[in-house]
Amino acid sequence: MSTRSTNRSGIVMRRRVTPAGDIIVTLLTPQGKIKAIARGGVRGPQASHLNLFHHVGVQLYQTPQNDLATVKQSILEGALPHLCEPERHPYAHLLSELADALFQEGEFSEQAFDLYAGALRGVSHHADPEWVALVMSYKLLSLAGFAPRTRQCARCGTADPAYPDPLGGQLLCGACSNQPPHPAERLEFLREVPRRSVRASMDAPLPPEQRPGVWRALERFVTVQIGQVQSWRALVGSPAISSAVGEAALV
Ligand SMILES: [Zn+2]
Repeated sequence: MSTRSTNRSGIVMRRRVTPAGDIIVTLLTPQGKIKAIARGGVRGPQASHLNLFHHVGVQLYQTPQNDLATVKQSILEGALPHLCEPERHPYAHLLSELADALFQEGEFSEQAFDLYAGALRGVSHHADPEWVALVMSYKLLSLAGFAPRTRQCARCGTADPAYPDPLGGQLLCGACSNQPPHPAERLEFLREVPRRSVRASMDAPLPPEQRPGVWRALERFVTVQIGQVQSWRALVGSPAISSAVGEAALV
C-alpha cells in the first residue's frame, strides 16, 4: 500500500465536525484548494488549530483508498483574533464562502490565496470591514472570471447602462430597467472595481447609504452566476445589509 505525504500551508475556509468527532476542513493554499480530514480531531490538539480563518501548516497523507487526504499533524501559523468580533465575523464568513464557491480543488492559484488572505486581514484590521468585504468580493469574482457586464446593458446591449439589474445584478439601460438609475458614485464603483487596484477602491469608499444597492447587485450576481451563498443570511444582523438582502428577496 502506497501513501503519499505532503506539507501544505493554508487558511481554513470551511470546517465541519462529523458525528464521529472527525474534523473535515477545506484549506485555501497557494497551491490550490484542499479538502482533508483530521480523524478524531475534536479530541486532539488539532481541534484548536483547525479553526475557521486560521492559517495552518499541515502534514497530509493521501492513501489510494480514500478520496480525502488525512491531516496527520498541524501547526498554527497565524490567526486573526479580531475576526471573532460580531461586526467582522459575518464578512469573513461571506468572503470564505464566496472563495470556496469560486475556486476549485486542484486549481493552482497563488493569486487566489493572496487575495483571500488579504481580504481576511483587511476585514480583521480595517476600520470599515463592510467596505473591505464589498471591494474584495468583487476582486475575488473577477479573479475567478466572473466580472459583471457594465459596458453594455445586460438585456439589450445598449452602451453605457446606468440602471440596476434587479434580477442579474449587472447593469441595464433606462429602457430595460424599471428602477431609478444608480447614483453617480455607485455607478462608477460598479464599473471600475474589477480593474481598479484594491488600494484605489479602498481609498474611495461609498457613503453607507449607497452600499445597500451594491450588496443587492452583488447578491443577485453571485446567486445567478455561482449559486446560493448561504452566509448572506448571517449578514442580516447588519441593518444596512438586512435591508439590502431583504429587498433583493422581494424582487
Ligand atoms: Zn437595455
